[in-house]
Amino acid sequence: MPVKDFSLADQGMKKILWAYDHMGVLKLLEDRFKFGITSLSGLSVGMSIHMEAKTARLALLLKDMGARVYATGCNPLSTQDDVAAGLQSMGVDVFAKHGATPEEYKENLLDVLNREPDLIIDDGGDLFEAYCNLPDCHKWPVIGGCEETTTGITRLRAYEKIGELPFPMINVNDAKCKHLYDNVYGTGQSTINAIMSVTNSVIASKTVVVAGYGFCGRGIAKRMRGMGAQVIVTEVDPVKAIEAKLEGFEVMTMLEAAQLGDIFVTATGCKDVITRKHFPLMKHNAILCNSGHFDVEINLKDLAEMATDIRERRESIVGYRLAPDKVLNVLAEGRLVNLAAGNGHPAEIMDTSFALQTLSLCYLAEHRGKLANRLHNVPNSIDQKVARLKLQTMDVDIDQLTASQRKYLGLKD
Ligand code: NAD
Ligand code: SAH
Repeated sequence: MPVKDFSLADQGMKKILWAYDHMGVLKLLEDRFKFGITSLSGLSVGMSIHMEAKTARLALLLKDMGARVYATGCNPLSTQDDVAAGLQSMGVDVFAKHGATPEEYKENLLDVLNREPDLIIDDGGDLFEAYCNLPDCHKWPVIGGCEETTTGITRLRAYEKIGELPFPMINVNDAKCKHLYDNVYGTGQSTINAIMSVTNSVIASKTVVVAGYGFCGRGIAKRMRGMGAQVIVTEVDPVKAIEAKLEGFEVMTMLEAAQLGDIFVTATGCKDVITRKHFPLMKHNAILCNSGHFDVEINLKDLAEMATDIRERRESIVGYRLAPDKVLNVLAEGRLVNLAAGNGHPAEIMDTSFALQTLSLCYLAEHRGKLANRLHNVPNSIDQKVARLKLQTMDVDIDQLTASQRKYLGLKD
């Protein structure tokens, strides 16, 4: 069955329409493209992104631009069954269910690939990898694809090291209008939002340990400070560590921080950031969660081996008892907490990320057969266009360089 429960469609449509009203750049693109011939007309798009209301809005825009869309999720826990049903009822082929087993998840990726999409959108690289793993005789020429997130880009770079990619991929994550807004402010707000709603705990006065001071980590650290927390940062990169220190955060090793934290949030894209050497040092009732791509940042295997008792304490919270007076609480099974136990980034943030996805797909279609089979940056003109459209939706004007200023700065006319 493509979606879990089609009777949830009305509820899902309400969520999608709410997102629709808060994604002004996508609306401007829709007004421009709807009912006309676009570069996506007649093409098909296979997407594997969090099956959530903002993703549904993106899928509907692509459909309105004339594409046939096949959609699945990119994480079994972030799929919202009502949204999946709502999107299906609005004419997009959806293959996703919340809590899919690894086998079902893989089958859903293949459901999308079996439709032989001309273009793909990936979040984390699973759809791309599933294509690469198909037998050669089952492959078809894909025009190209777009990758949404940091970890997906890391995986694509690893592929590039051993040879050329099977088709051109566009690095949406590294566009300015993506990582400077989505990774920082999106992850900052939605991670805290998820921790607060899952735990119903106060943030002010707590000591929060943020592992990783990259784009996501700095967003989380700043927003946590804004909520009144004392924030400690852990890093492996000396440059980032100094940035965190200059921003006013405490910086130390995880071994030191383990003893001090009330809440731990990992956002490194790395593995084994919190392990068996840290757990015994932590305070009773400490909260542990992850906002990085994979569920490998907190070593739950270690934790389970050390625990004398493991039980669900509240929805999305599992308590691991290490001693009679010590329980550690893990949120959302160590998967990215903002999407696995929340609604992910707000619509206004995904607006720019998904505008980049849309225009990058058009770029791929317009340059069909002309781009090398490697990872490409989003053209600067697209980044600038999305920023200008976003300002328009915010009703903000900015100054323009005069001709003499351009000359002074050595810019072309
Ligand atoms: P980034 O590369 O900007 O930052 C990662 C930081 O972690 C770097 O500064 C790195 O030095 C540090 N780091 C690496 N290993 C570490 C370790 N063992 N201990 C401490 N610090 C370590 O990447 P980013 O854009 O911030 O993304 C981080 C992760 O979050 C990725 O997996 C990405 O896919 C994911 N992500 C999640 C969301 C979300 O919605 N939750 C949004 C965007 C990206
Ligand atoms: N695929 C990974 C996670 C990738 S990191 C996994 O599930 O483990 C999170 C990415 O999700 C970010 O790059 C961000 O652009 C995207 N994202 C965040 N909130 C979202 C939302 N509400 N809808 C769709 N995508 C979202």
